[in-house]
Amino acid sequence: MKIKNIGWIGLGKMGIPMAQKLINVGYAVTVYNRSKAKIEALSSAGASTAESPVQLVPQSEVIFLMVSDDQATREIFTGETGLLNAPVSGKIFVNMSTVSPGISQEMARMCREKQSFYLDAPVSGSVKQAEEGQLVIMVGSEEAIFHQVKPLLDQLGKLTLRVGETGAGNSAKLAINTLLGFYAQGLAEAVIFAQQHGIQTQDLLTLIGNSALGNIFTKIKGEAIVANNFQPAFALKHIAKDLRLAQQEGSHTPLAEVVQNTFQQAESTLGEEDVMAIIKHLNPINESAATN
Ligand code: NAP
Repeated sequence: MKIKNIGWIGLGKMGIPMAQKLINVGYAVTVYNRSKAKIEALSSAGASTAESPVQLVPQSEVIFLMVSDDQATREIFTGETGLLNAPVSGKIFVNMSTVSPGISQEMARMCREKQSFYLDAPVSGSVKQAEEGQLVIMVGSEEAIFHQVKPLLDQLGKLTLRVGETGAGNSAKLAINTLLGFYAQGLAEAVIFAQQHGIQTQDLLTLIGNSALGNIFTKIKGEAIVANNFQPAFALKHIAKDLRLAQQEGSHTPLAEVVQNTFQQAESTLGEEDVMAIIKHLNPINESAATN
């Protein structure tokens, strides 16, 4: 049976464009967000609204979550007005947030007890890729339920790959974001080193962009460095959270230890800025040198 009715929980930087995408391709979408102000954009685009997670369940066949972390996931499933307080038999929950494999396994178990299904389906890519339906989606779930949901996920991403059972999507995502931490800190350190030796930042970035190391991350974050603009596309607090999760999952390799420490130290002052604001932490006496 073709899925038509979608529930969407979490209208942050990623949730808004992703839910919008599903509305654009014709799904009936009901949205919920903890703070009400963010609902307006989607309701004026044609979404129905729910006052709580539990109220969103009856009219939704598949319910997506795109929220911050483990704690948000737990509250949405098990809180006073949480999803699992509704009759959920046959419902499919797809958690696209970056969370721990452990919380996914726990929620999947609770869903199974109520004859419903849980998939972890975190994403790689940021706001731009979400707007363009070009995310990379990694899924942990039973195979049969994956095939039911894949056509929906394919509307949001350019690649949807099942990597294993529940929690496997989360593990893959933590591996990718560990690499993202290396890239961000590595790019920042390369720029700082070049600046210290009189190289124009734009020149260095042009060289990197035309070398084997050029990639979309270096391009977008290089532009942010040159503009000295660290408005968050991917907030630094989220990569700090992801590196912490990876650490809890046993990531203790040499580089991982370094980036975990760097981002934890930066989180209290730069957490609300973009991940690339790590350059300010690494080079605090020369904040504006990025524009040189
Ligand atoms: P965000 O802009 O900070 O939005 C977070 C969302 O979670 C908001 O809707 C927020 O509600 C909700 N939330 C937080 N705590 C909650 C709670 N206790 N109960 C209910 N709702 C809660 O985050 P984002 O950038 O969209 O990222 C969402 C997830 O995707 C994160 O796990 C992040 O690591 C991951 N991710 C982000 C990017 C990116 O580039 N931004 C890329 C890939 C993956 P309020 O509006 O009420 O605060």
